[in-house]
Amino acid sequence: MDFISTRDKDYNKVTASKAIAGGLALDGGLYVPCAFPALHGFIGATYERMAFDVLRLYLTDFDENELKEYVHLAYGDCLPVAVNGHYIELFHGRTSAFKDVALQLFPYLLAASLRKQNIHQTAVVLTATSGDTGSAVLAGMKNIPGIRAIVFYPADGVSNLQKLQMTTQEGDNLNVFGIRGNFDDAQRAVKAVFADEQFRAKYADRYLFTSANSINAGRLLPQIAYYFYAYSLSVESGVIREGDRMNFVVPTGNFGNILAGYYAEKMGLPVNKLICATNINKVLYDFIRTGVYNKKRPFQTTVSPSMDILISSNLERLIYDTGGYETVVNAYQSLESAGEFSLDAPLSALDTEFVTDPETVKTITEVYRKNNYILDPHTAVAQCAYNKYRQRTGDGTYAIILATASPYKFPETVYSALGDVLHDPPPSLRALDKKPVLHGEVIDDIRKTIEKILQ
Ligand SMILES: *Cc1c(COP(=O)(O)O)cnc(C)c1O
Repeated sequence: MDFISTRDKDYNKVTASKAIAGGLALDGGLYVPCAFPALHGFIGATYERMAFDVLRLYLTDFDENELKEYVHLAYGDCLPVAVNGHYIELFHGRTSAFKDVALQLFPYLLAASLRKQNIHQTAVVLTATSGDTGSAVLAGMKNIPGIRAIVFYPADGVSNLQKLQMTTQEGDNLNVFGIRGNFDDAQRAVKAVFADEQFRAKYADRYLFTSANSINAGRLLPQIAYYFYAYSLSVESGVIREGDRMNFVVPTGNFGNILAGYYAEKMGLPVNKLICATNINKVLYDFIRTGVYNKKRPFQTTVSPSMDILISSNLERLIYDTGGYETVVNAYQSLESAGEFSLDAPLSALDTEFVTDPETVKTITEVYRKNNYILDPHTAVAQCAYNKYRQRTGDGTYAIILATASPYKFPETVYSALGDVLHDPPPSLRALDKKPVLHGEVIDDIRKTIEKILQ
């Protein structure tokens, strides 16, 4: 399978390993696959089998035994995914959030891609995080030869536990910094470094800059598998019949998770609606409802910090899919110069609702009282958005809600909703406050900081 950049008018094709090694395309666009092959015969398959079957359709310059091995290394001992009623829990991985699903596998894909591309420089994985990507990248990349990971998180925009997970992470090849600014500031600065040819050239003999954010195609593709898995288990448990359409409700920030669902649909998964759940940073809600994407609004911190984003990178891939190169370039030029863009064609595959903080907390309380099930705030946003969607549309199609984090990762909010109910944290979250802080620094200038590390 070839990949192309969303911003390349000449449609230059690259292999999967080149797309993964590079991260972001050099023209500032995102790599997308040239086609979406159908996935057949997936009902009843194991998670490992499904992940392998999805990946081999796209990573065609990897050999199959190699892919099988990576999938096994990633998920053999620690499968991040489990279905529990109408939730698919994606948080059973090493850092207790859904980023683990991709990031337990991604380091193998990246290391192999570097080999295939004959890249001998150290790969510097620059990562902007709203909280959960950071710890998952650090846990995944720890002590992997040939790779250095540098993570930037908003110093005042992540939960205490998220911060501790990052700042206490051991590993010789890792750097972590708080920045004064929000996630969008971090993401913008990191993208600017990628786009700066002079900066890259200055280090080219020793370092190759790449990304483990969901702007990297290698992060995105592993996420397609759990949509098929959720469907398969729903057929097996008898709540739907094979061929029936299903709804998926996705708590959304950078649009990577829901885009994987959109790609699954293009590969033949019977999807009725993908429901994009946002918090009050509701740029995506406004965009899906009106066709106008407008980032000119205050950035608000919420109890669902991993969704506090005004510039959702992966939306570019969806826009590419609906309108091609020209639509993307016009839209992003307009976003840059005027802070907004609009599309004529409606995005009929998606529906959307937004949820306030008080509604989020109330939903945690309600679901616990009714079902004795503890939601994390992000999953609660999805649950509440789904309640609103059903009330508005009356659509009774069977729905799966993507549960993206363990409630133990956001204890303050869960405590405010339920009191003292969290008694048995997953091992990765135990005693973090007793570990030494190895990365306490807070910085202003991302570029200078990178230069200092790489001197
Ligand atoms: C990252 C994250 C999200 C948002 O996912 P996107 O792919 O960025 O849309 C939602 N919930 C949690 C817990 C996350 O970590």
